This record gives sequence, structure tokens and C-alpha cells, in this order.
Amino acid sequence: MPGHEWSGTVVELGPGTDPELLGKPVVGEGFRNCGRCAPCRRGDTTLCTAEYDETGFTQPGGWADELRIPARLLHVQPDGADLRAAALLEPAACMAAATLLAAVVPGERVAVIGGGTLGLLATQLLAASGPAELVVVDPRASRAVPASRFRGATGFYSPGAARAGSTWWWRRRARRARGRRRCGCAAAAAGWC
Ligand SMILES: [Zn+2]
Repeated sequence: MPGHEWSGTVVELGPGTDPELLGKPVVGEGFRNCGRCAPCRRGDTTLCTAEYDETGFTQPGGWADELRIPARLLHVQPDGADLRAAALLEPAACMAAATLLAAVVPGERVAVIGGGTLGLLATQLLAASGPAELVVVDPRASRAVPASRFRGATGFYSPGAARAGSTWWWRRRARRARGRRRCGCAAAAAGWC
């Protein structure tokens, strides 16, 4: 059962779990790290050396009516939280961590590869760093509007559209995106799922 971006309400508790969790709105970390190996202990939980285990991949995901999640991976939301919006907290947190690691400085030239959910989240967060150029690259030309109008991208490059030479506008954008200078930072958000 797929679905790794989800939110929900705690309806049942396992033995030894904090009873305060019952009825709480929650989101959860998808990657089920062991919490004991060296990478986990230093905070690099996505580098956990234990066997790969993740909600929505090796475990039932958000398309299921109910999920069984280790309580330590849950993050309680305020009462009355918008759970539909909260479903994007986990991917947003991933992009926030990546943005902090990228440490973009004002005036830098940045490319985001992929204009899907993660790419657009990354674009919005990276825009706050004040890059001189923030270009989203995606073969789907339909991503240009959400990237530039709502997320702060200054440019958009659609390789397919440029190859096809569909319009002068795309060709001009493609030239501008390629430019002569290299990007100081490239964020890859072209996933496989
Ligand atoms: Zn681990």
C-alpha cells in the first residue's frame, strides 16, 4: 500500500506508549531508523545502517485507512490542526534540511532539478535565501507557473519544450537558464516515486 506523505489521528496505542497520544493529530517520519547505530546516534537517521524500512515502501502507507507507526517517529500537531496541509510536513522538513545544508548565500545562482512537490517546496525555501537566479528545471512545461508565480523561481527550463522549439519564449528561457555561468548550487528533487 503506497503513500509516504500522510497525516492522521492516533486511534490506538501499543503497550507502554504514552497515553497522552490517544486522539492526537499527528504526522510521522517515514524512514524507520533503528535509533541505535552510529549514524542514528549522531542524528544522520537517513544513513541508518539497519535494514531499510519505510512507511509507504516496505510498510503500508498513507493510502491505508490505518497505519501502525512507532510512537517515537510521530510528531504531534496542535489540536484542530489542518491535517490535509499537515500531510506535506514530512517532505517540507526534508527540503528544509536540504536547504540548510546547501547554505545558499544571497546573490548565488541556484538550480532546482525537478518541479514536483519536493522541487517546489525546495524552490520556495531557497527563494528565502535571496539568490540572484533561481531556475527550476523540469520536462513538464506546466510546472512553470507554479514554480515562478507561487514559489519564487526567477526562471524555468523545460528541456523537452526547448528541444521541440515549441515557442520563442521557451527558447529564450532555455538560453537564459543555461547561461554562461555555472550554478553555485543545484538541488536535485527529481524523484523516482
Ligand atoms: Zn540506525
